[in-house]
Amino acid sequence: MSLATAVRRWLSGGDEVLYECRHCGTTVEPTEWRCPTCGSDEIAEFDPAEYDAP
Ligand SMILES: [Zn+2]
Repeated sequence: MSLATAVRRWLSGGDEVLYECRHCGTTVEPTEWRCPTCGSDEIAEFDPAEYDAP
């Protein structure tokens, strides 16, 4: 999933923090610390508060 998709999801989903695999870009559930797609444990955390959307 692209960052744009993540932002779009954020815009429609409130202010919850997003987690995304750094390796393949899959969105990962907050309860998951390993990507279900590629098995990587490098999960990026996106805090919506850090985005200042127009
Ligand atoms: Zn992955």
